[in-house]
Amino acid sequence: MSLKVDVVVVGGGPVGLALSGDLAWRGHKVLLLDKGDGSIFQPKMDLVGIRTMEFCRRWGIVKDVEESEYDRNYPQDNVYLTSLNGYELGRQKMPSMNEELPPKESPQKRERCPQNYFDPILKKFALSHFSNNIYYKTECIGFSQAHNQVNIQAKDLNTDEIFNIESIFLVGCDGGKSLIRDSLGIQMTGKGLLTYTTNVIFECSEFNSLHNKAPGYRYMFIGPSGTWCTIVAINGKDQWRMSLIGNAEEKRVYTEEEIKSLAYKAVGTTFDMKILSVLPWQRAELVADKYRDRNVFICGDSCHLTSPTGGLGMNTGIGDAVDLSWKLSGYLQGWGGEVLLDSYTFERKPIAERITQFSTGNLEIMKKLPSNEFIYDDSSTGENVREQVGKAMTEGLKREWFSLNMHLGNRYINSPINIYDEPEDSLKVQSEFEDAINYIPSTRPGARAPHIWLDKDLSTLDLINKKYTLFCFTNITDEIKVICQYANELKIPLSIFYLDSIQTKSIYEWSFVMIRPDGHVAWRGHNYKLDPHLFWSTLTGNSNAIHH
Ligand SMILES: Cc1cc2nc3c(=O)[nH]c(=O)nc-3n(C[C@H](O)[C@H](O)[C@H](O)COP(=O)(O)OP(=O)(O)OC[C@H]3O[C@@H](n4cnc5c(N)ncnc54)[C@H](O)[C@@H]3O)c2cc1C
Repeated sequence: MSLKVDVVVVGGGPVGLALSGDLAWRGHKVLLLDKGDGSIFQPKMDLVGIRTMEFCRRWGIVKDVEESEYDRNYPQDNVYLTSLNGYELGRQKMPSMNEELPPKESPQKRERCPQNYFDPILKKFALSHFSNNIYYKTECIGFSQAHNQVNIQAKDLNTDEIFNIESIFLVGCDGGKSLIRDSLGIQMTGKGLLTYTTNVIFECSEFNSLHNKAPGYRYMFIGPSGTWCTIVAINGKDQWRMSLIGNAEEKRVYTEEEIKSLAYKAVGTTFDMKILSVLPWQRAELVADKYRDRNVFICGDSCHLTSPTGGLGMNTGIGDAVDLSWKLSGYLQGWGGEVLLDSYTFERKPIAERITQFSTGNLEIMKKLPSNEFIYDDSSTGENVREQVGKAMTEGLKREWFSLNMHLGNRYINSPINIYDEPEDSLKVQSEFEDAINYIPSTRPGARAPHIWLDKDLSTLDLINKKYTLFCFTNITDEIKVICQYANELKIPLSIFYLDSIQTKSIYEWSFVMIRPDGHVAWRGHNYKLDPHLFWSTLTGNSNAIHH
């Protein structure tokens, strides 16, 4: 058996599913291989971030997420305690999914939709395009590159048959132990191992009646040495995930008795718990040195590993997938060039560094608390310790719970495929980039194009689709007309919209804003009087884009 496709995606986790879906949505022939059977042993992610929800809106799958099985009335509070029957040290109140409204900066809001519900939604989306196919129980065992093409060797794990696939591109979405990354010899850099952690999913329908605290999404248990355990409401009903946080020094393996006794310690009483799965895993902070080798790319956990304290691992991986997809698509359509493909590393690596460092920072806040052995004491000393710890958690973790800028503020600074306007204060740009909370809508090149409601259900984001999009806030000039004609002649897909809402004008600021197919601003200006060829060769990373 030998197959030919445009792109082979290895790995059908959330990132591979999103990438293959987006590529097929853009009309390309994609084959996704996964060595598993599509079932999820233990759901890891459960926060679908606001930017990912904007992509879901574009893909038409918001309703599927909203209708998934998570109990949308379940409160989402983060609660800091010594135990559920001990002292509550602080609480960050958070609305349930049904109560929360989208912020003014987005048509969507973040959603709680754990992986065992979210992956099937992405799979359904990916398979809704006839040009996409998924082979489960199929392992990629090797590949080679020659003549602008990749030859992939795959093994059918049901029959042991080995077969070849020819493809223009190969993308490894094959997770933290990526074969594709290792085969390319790409190293990862960062703090490395942070903790040996064990996750336990258990069933207990009466869990919240075992204690007298108001229900929460995440209970965080603090002892004399900081936070040692968390329990989260994994489906808002009867399933819970306990994480025994651990450290980087000791690789613990827990027996069932030990797991149960630690759960009893967290709750402060014994109870009936049915352990559904136990997953020891290593928390790390690592980013790949590069994301591309000729026609092979890596994406998602294969190029960055982060502490989940921030809910950003998958969300960043889906951001990678969206960034990569339109670039591969541009190349396959003939208008995108080498620099467009190279820009994937330039743009996404700094984002991975941003989110991994932020997430490790959150872990450190949880672990390094002003706590000591008096935290459990029924005395004024104990009260004092609990107050200090409660304050440190409540204040310190606000940046994790309200990290809007981590999701919407991923600006591509110094990208070779954007045309930047006035020089900016680099210290200010850096401090905005590092700010987790305060998102300031902006059309500065590289930023996500801002959302404004144009009508009851129509956002500016809904106008940005598979093409470049030019927003015009004034009559088109002769020079901009030429830019549009060039796009047409070079077969670069472009949509043009004339917008006159005062609010949109005031946020978009400039007469013309050119937005890339991924929704980031490529250029803005009141006119463009330079060479139109230079304009498009920069944006498409294609110096061969010659105008005839
Ligand atoms: C406890 C915990 C909580 C988390 N919570 C969140 C959260 O709330 N929000 C968030 O954004 N992120 C969260 N994350 C991180 C998130 O789960 C990961 O970032 C995400 O799963 C990565 O997706 P991926 O598709 O890149 O890789 P994976 O999910 O690891 O998928 C890789 C796939 O590749 C397949 N594969 C591997 N090698 C091969 C091969 N050679 N051939 C064929 N197939 C192969 C595997 O079978 C697997 O299906 C959390 C992580 C943990 C541990």
